Amino acid sequence: MENKMRKTRAAVLHKPFVVEMEERELDSLHSNEVLIKVMSVGVCGSDVHYYEKGKIGSKKVEKPLIQGHECAGIVVEIGPAVTTLKVGDRVAIEPGISCGICTDCKEGNYNLCSQVAFLSSPPIDGAFSEYIIHPENFLFKIPDNVTFEEATLIEPLSVGLHGLSRAGMKANSSVLISGMGPIGLTAIIAAKSFGALNIIATDIEPLRLKIAKELGAAHVINVSKENLLESVQELTKDRGVDVVIETSGQEQAIKASVDIVKKGGNISVIGFSRLNNIGINFYKLLQKEISIHGVYRYTNTYQHGVDILGSKKFKTDLLLTDFYPLEKVQEALEHARVNKSTSIKVIVKPNV
Ligand SMILES: [Zn+2]
Ligand SMILES: [Zn+2]
Repeated sequence: MENKMRKTRAAVLHKPFVVEMEERELDSLHSNEVLIKVMSVGVCGSDVHYYEKGKIGSKKVEKPLIQGHECAGIVVEIGPAVTTLKVGDRVAIEPGISCGICTDCKEGNYNLCSQVAFLSSPPIDGAFSEYIIHPENFLFKIPDNVTFEEATLIEPLSVGLHGLSRAGMKANSSVLISGMGPIGLTAIIAAKSFGALNIIATDIEPLRLKIAKELGAAHVINVSKENLLESVQELTKDRGVDVVIETSGQEQAIKASVDIVKKGGNISVIGFSRLNNIGINFYKLLQKEISIHGVYRYTNTYQHGVDILGSKKFKTDLLLTDFYPLEKVQEALEHARVNKSTSIKVIVKPNV
C-alpha cells in the first residue's frame, strides 16, 4: 500500500483533562503485521484514570498518549507473512503484545512478560485512532453475528475468564462475584459460560445489581444494606461458595473473601486496591485451606471470548450504554468519569 494512506487521525491525551485530535504517521507494516481500520473501542476505567490523574501507580503519561485498548476493527492490509487473515476480515484485537521468547512467555504466562507492549499503557499508543497496526498473532476473527461494539467486551470478559481459570472453576461450581463494574458484570457471562450453577453478585448500586440479574446472576446482595456473610450462608446452606471473584478492590470485600468461600475454596483477586497491604485472616486461610490467586490481565482467552459472544446467549446490549465518535473522545472520557453509576461501557467509534 502506498504511503499516502499511512496516516491516521487520533485522539491524543496531552495532560490530565486535555485531549486533542491530531494526525499521526503510521509506521510501515512488518511482515507479520496487519493494518486495521478501528471500528469500536471501549473506554476502560484505566483510560479514565490516566485522563484524570496522568498516572496509575508508577506508570505515568510522560509524552502525549493515544488511549484505548478494548478494540475491534476491519483488516485493510496484511504484511507478506500473514497467513490467517485477509483484507475485509472483522477482528477483535488482543491489546498486549508479548515478546514470546522470555521465560514467562515460554512458561505460558505471557501476561507477565516484562517486555509486553500493551495498547494505551504508557508509553505505548492505543486505539482511539482511525487505524492501528497490530501483529497477526494477537488478532481474532469475529463472526458476522458479533458486532464490533460487542467485540470490545472481549477484553474485560477476558479478565474474568482468566480469574475463573486461575480459581479452578468447574461446571456446577458456585461463584460469588464481588463488584459489578464492567469486569464484574462480564465475569457473570464468563461464569455462566463455565457452567456455574449458582452465581451471586454483590455491589452497592441497585442499577448494577439489576443488570447483574438480567445477565444471569441467580442472587444479588446489596452490601450497603444486607449482611454479606449471613446472606452467603443462607444461600449456600452454611457451606460457603466454591469460588470468589473479587473485582471491587475494596479492602472490606477482599478481607471478607476468606469468610464467604468454602473450605478448600478458591479466591481470585482482580480488583486493584488503593492499599498495597491488606490484612487477611491467616488463621482462616490455613484452617480452611483456602487458595488465593492474583489475577493480572489474561492469557489465551480471546478465542474463548469470541466463541462466547458468538453463542448469542447473553444480553450484551445491557453493557453497551453510550456511544461517541473519535472527535468526541474527551466527552466520552468525561461521560465515563462523571456517570460512574449509570454508564457501564462507553464506546468510541473512530470510523462511523
Ligand atoms: Zn480495559
Ligand atoms: Zn515475554
